Amino acid sequence: MTRIAFLGLGHMGLPMARNLVAAGHDVHGFDLVPAAVDAATAAGIPVAGSGADAVTGADVVITMFPAGRHVIAAYQEELLSAAQPRTLFIESSTIAVDEAQTAHALAIEAGHRHIDAPVSGGVVGAENGTLAFMVGGSEEDFAAALPLLEIMGKRIVHCGGPGLGQAAKVCNNMILAVSQIAVAEAFVLGERLGLEHQALFDVVSQASGQCWSVTTNCPVPGPVPTSPANRDYQPGFAGALMAKDLGLALQAIEQTSTDARMGRLAQEIYAAFAAGEGAGRDFSGIITDIRAGEV
Ligand code: NAD
Repeated sequence: MTRIAFLGLGHMGLPMARNLVAAGHDVHGFDLVPAAVDAATAAGIPVAGSGADAVTGADVVITMFPAGRHVIAAYQEELLSAAQPRTLFIESSTIAVDEAQTAHALAIEAGHRHIDAPVSGGVVGAENGTLAFMVGGSEEDFAAALPLLEIMGKRIVHCGGPGLGQAAKVCNNMILAVSQIAVAEAFVLGERLGLEHQALFDVVSQASGQCWSVTTNCPVPGPVPTSPANRDYQPGFAGALMAKDLGLALQAIEQTSTDARMGRLAQEIYAAFAAGEGAGRDFSGIITDIRAGEV
């Protein structure tokens, strides 16, 4: 049994922490928001009175916060100093690569161990313990974290040194955004050329245009009954989260002077989408804006 402090009990953190409790670990949760604390308590997760209280005496600290600034502030204000020496920090929020490296350096300077371990798979993956973890950090710290990651996730990849878990996440989501836009454009173009949705799906899903945005997240209702298009674009993966991840991709593109024109364009498109109703809709709903000529 490992003593775990789990900080950030929101949409993702609560079900992840619950899976650790169910596996028999001694979890001490904490969240700043009273509603999240109440939901965690109701879900059987013991909640401490502060972040520092949760971390005191823990072997492992897991953070699942909205953004990098929350991670760095919490590390500097209380978590790193309250933790016992050589505590293993597992930072699972989606944050910028350089923020992940800063968080890593702060933790190491304070005498701790640290990995970045962002996830994909959404709330459903968090609930079912089937998340994908992309991990950056040393081989030794990855090995120490693995038994816990295997409780919360199904596919766990060690991507390299500090920050490279976040790098893999940003690259994957940039591909996803670009491909979802391309698939939506193709379906609208097909409509205007007189192609039935099902006919285009039957071709593309078996041809070289095949990708997740067609076979799982098909942006038109019908061909894939479970895709968000069949429920008026209820997420799924909300436009606001895609816009956030593309903001991190843009930051990385600029810092590395990468000629990533498609990534830049996808960032612009999803920033506009998420500025309106798209924030709460699945990101495949971009097809509605394309059809209306609003992209
Ligand atoms: P959320 O806003 O529901 O939860 C984050 C929680 O962190 C909030 O309850 C907030 O009060 C808490 N928090 C912030 N600062 C804190 C502090 N110092 N101490 C304790 N608690 C603190 O967000 P979420 O949807 O659970 O996402 C969490 C992270 O996971 C984000 O970085 C997001 O980008 C990433 N992510 C989310 C999804 C998804 O589908 N929701 C999928 C993959 C990755």
